[in-house]
Amino acid sequence: MKVTIDQYSGFCFGVVYAIEMAEEILKTQDTLYCLGDIVHNNREIDRLKKLGLQIITHKELEHIFNATVLIRAHGEPPETYALALKNNIKLLDASCPVVLKLQRQIKEGYEKLEEVGGQIVIFGKEGHAEVKGLLGQTKGNAITIASIQDLHKIDFSKPLSVYSQTTKNPNAYKEIVQEIEKRLKLNNNDRLGYVVHDTLCRQVSGREPQLTEFSNDNDVIVFVSGKKSSNGKMLFQSCKKQNKNSYFISNEEDIKQEWFVNAKSVGVCGATSTPRWLMESVKDTIEQILPN
Ligand code: SF4
Repeated sequence: MKVTIDQYSGFCFGVVYAIEMAEEILKTQDTLYCLGDIVHNNREIDRLKKLGLQIITHKELEHIFNATVLIRAHGEPPETYALALKNNIKLLDASCPVVLKLQRQIKEGYEKLEEVGGQIVIFGKEGHAEVKGLLGQTKGNAITIASIQDLHKIDFSKPLSVYSQTTKNPNAYKEIVQEIEKRLKLNNNDRLGYVVHDTLCRQVSGREPQLTEFSNDNDVIVFVSGKKSSNGKMLFQSCKKQNKNSYFISNEEDIKQEWFVNAKSVGVCGATSTPRWLMESVKDTIEQILPN
C-alpha cells in the first residue's frame, strides 16, 4: 500500500506570508493579536497560539488601544483601518496581494458606476471575511450573490460590473455569469456598461486540474482541511467528483480504517489553508493503521 501526499497541496503564498509575519514578530515579543482566524485550520491556529498568537474578534478590537494587530490574508474593509487609527492601533497588514488588488479593482469600479447609477455584483459567500473586505470598498452597496437563486437582487436594466471572491469555483462563476448575461439580454441591456472581471485566485483554481489528476491516480483520497475553509470545500468536491472514495477530514482522529480495505494507493491532499506538517502526520497515521 502506497500513501502519497499531493505535492501541490498546502499553504498558498498569501497564507505563508501571514503566518511567517506572525512567527517573525513572535520571536521578539510574547504575544501578538490577530484579527480573526489567521488561517481556516484549527490545528495550525493551536500551534500559533502556543507561540503567543491571540485571535481577537472585530467586537474585541473596538476595546483595544495602543496595541499591535495583525491583519490576515483575507483583508479588511476601510472601517477596520479607521478604527485602528482611532484606537492608536498599529496594524501589521498581511492582506494577500491578490485580495488587495481585487479590493482596488472593486473600489475603482464602484466609483465609476456610482456616477451612472450602476451596480457592483460580487459572487461570494455572504459574511465571509474576504467578502466583507470587498463590500467595504463600495460602502456596503455591492450586491452579494451566493448562487443563481440570489440573482433577483440585481436590477438588470442598469449597468453592471461583476467580480468574484478569489476562492470561488471557476465553473460556478461561469454559470452565474452565463445566467446574468441571459437576463441582461432579456432586458435588452447586454451592451450597457456590462463588465465581467476574472478575479479568481490561480493558487486555488490552478489546483483543481492537478487535484483531478491526483484523485484519478489514487484508489482512496483523504482530503485534509478546516471545516471553515471555502477553498477546502470547493477542492474536496472536485476530488469527490473524480473519485467517490474521497473523504474529508480535519485531523488524524477522523480517519477510519474501513476506508482503505482493498485499496492499493491512498492520496493525501488539502486546501490552501492546510499545513504540510498536518498532511504528513495524516500520512503517518494512515500508514500505521493500514493492514500490511
Ligand atoms: S487563496 Fe489566493 S487570494 Fe487567497 S490568500 Fe491564498 S494566494 Fe491569496
